[in-house]
Amino acid sequence: MQYNAAGLLKDSVGARRSFAFEYEEITTPDENFREIAGVVRLLRIDNGILAQVEVRGRTQDQCSRCLGDAMVEIEAYLEEEYYPTNNFEGFTVGDEDNTGEFVDPALLIDEDNILSVREPVRQAFLGVKPIAPLCRDDCKGICPTCSTDLNEAPCECSPQQEIPEWAKSLRSLEIN
Ligand SMILES: [Zn+2]
Ligand SMILES: [Zn+2]
Repeated sequence: MQYNAAGLLKDSVGARRSFAFEYEEITTPDENFREIAGVVRLLRIDNGILAQVEVRGRTQDQCSRCLGDAMVEIEAYLEEEYYPTNNFEGFTVGDEDNTGEFVDPALLIDEDNILSVREPVRQAFLGVKPIAPLCRDDCKGICPTCSTDLNEAPCECSPQQEIPEWAKSLRSLEIN
């Protein structure tokens, strides 16, 4: 998920490169994105490099219906502008014009001219991760009454969500 951008930074505005990656992993205490694969298109722009990233991966989550494991597929597209740390000809790094302009450290091309899409991809994945993941599309969930996992066995209380007999009899007692 890294690219040595030295050559592209020395190239003229409008120059393009691309690179691909696969079987990458992003692990933090809270997240585990696996089998990450993607394509990055790089475009040399005036003050840096524009990166267009198409990426997909998977993450282990908890099914919102049955609370079992859910393997969630995620896809994201992002565009980020990267800025060099080093001084390249044609750039005015640390120029007064740029002072006061906040640059996300994740979008800095480092001293070794390495451009990394890892952190922006992690953030994009967090943004597109489903709020209510499912272990499978037709997960039957857990019976709210007896807590049986309905994927494993039906229970006595489901699927009847009909009006109980006693309530039906109340209906006939309509008040005029
Ligand atoms: Zn489930
Ligand atoms: Zn039940």
